[in-house]
Amino acid sequence: MSAVQTRQDTAAPAAPTWVVPLSDVEIDDEMEAALVEAFRSGWWSMGPRVAAFEEAFASFVGATSAIAVANGTAALHLALLASGCGPGDEVVLPSLNFVAAANTIRHTGATPVFVDIESESDLNLSIGDLEAAITSRTRAIVALHYGGAPARMDAILELARTHGLVVVEDAAHAPGAEWQGRRCGSIGKVGCFSFFSNKNLPMGEGGMIVTSDEEIARRIRLLRSHGMTTLTWDRHRGHAHSYDVVDEGFNVRMDELRAAIGLVQLGRLSERNARRGEIVERYRDAFAGSDAVSLPAPTRAGDRSAHHLAVVVLREGIPRDDVRTALASRGIQTSMHYPPIHQFSHYRAAGAVRPLPVTESVAGRLITLPLYPTMTDDQIIAVVDALQEAL
Ligand SMILES: *Cc1c(COP(=O)(O)O)cnc(C)c1O
Repeated sequence: MSAVQTRQDTAAPAAPTWVVPLSDVEIDDEMEAALVEAFRSGWWSMGPRVAAFEEAFASFVGATSAIAVANGTAALHLALLASGCGPGDEVVLPSLNFVAAANTIRHTGATPVFVDIESESDLNLSIGDLEAAITSRTRAIVALHYGGAPARMDAILELARTHGLVVVEDAAHAPGAEWQGRRCGSIGKVGCFSFFSNKNLPMGEGGMIVTSDEEIARRIRLLRSHGMTTLTWDRHRGHAHSYDVVDEGFNVRMDELRAAIGLVQLGRLSERNARRGEIVERYRDAFAGSDAVSLPAPTRAGDRSAHHLAVVVLREGIPRDDVRTALASRGIQTSMHYPPIHQFSHYRAAGAVRPLPVTESVAGRLITLPLYPTMTDDQIIAVVDALQEAL
């Protein structure tokens, strides 16, 4: 009898087998070879592959520095700390966002101030409401590029200039997206990316901070690894013999195995984003005449979306749960991006919330459809048919 567990005898329940999952990862020989090569090198944490990934990512985005970290949440946390956010400060962000941005603002001691979205055809933050939310205590704006569609960076940068604020781009959805010809993440003072398994550049876990501000880059490198002035890798190579500690840092380093996967994924990113765009166009065509659902408007001229999410907005009065249940019964997995942060108990309890009428009207009507580069034509048709039938 073999003691090795096989897939059949493992006690863990099998994951539901969707006909069309919400997202999926690619697994192939090139990726496996890169992973095995890193594994066999015997150097498993920050080393030459992390350095190569950082260099390639900085040049891809068009920033001077890229600092790899353990995940996108750590990227936001360190970016906010290095931007000087702390107790007494307010940081403005859209409530229609993943909760990590608000949590990390709180971790710095600052207060998150939630703003509305523009409209049901533009799910990025509202410029008018952003302006209304700025006070004398505001220090920074966390600008999410929702679904990979660039936020209105011209207006955001102008408000930041007028009020002396730091712009942190939450580019978790937007690797490869472009605002007026510039890559998202390189436009504000600092940009944050996530490489979680369902993102456009999936690595399991991982994150990146990009900036062209040398002082912020230096501070982030220190915060990433305990506030220590040298890395184990530098000492291993004989480039340093000791270290000093000049800040109270964390350990949110990236490992070599992930960086090896990341380098392969980065080489594929533009092509995979283009395929995502084709799939979104198929959804757009299929529902162009529908009075029951709409898709957010295409990006403005000169901008390019990374197409992280395929989101539809239901007409008011259509029960979202019923539609999602009907899709699930046909084997189609859906999601919601996002339950607004200001409505979670923790943030409701945290106090005064500004009125966010558009977010509150739209958020309960959003459904995220499956979207990943390896979706087949049959899978696209299956989603379209099932949604048409459910409406
Ligand atoms: C995924 C995501 C994060 C968090 O990234 P992790 O890598 O999962 O920590 C933060 N903000 C947004 C908008 C995200 O989509």
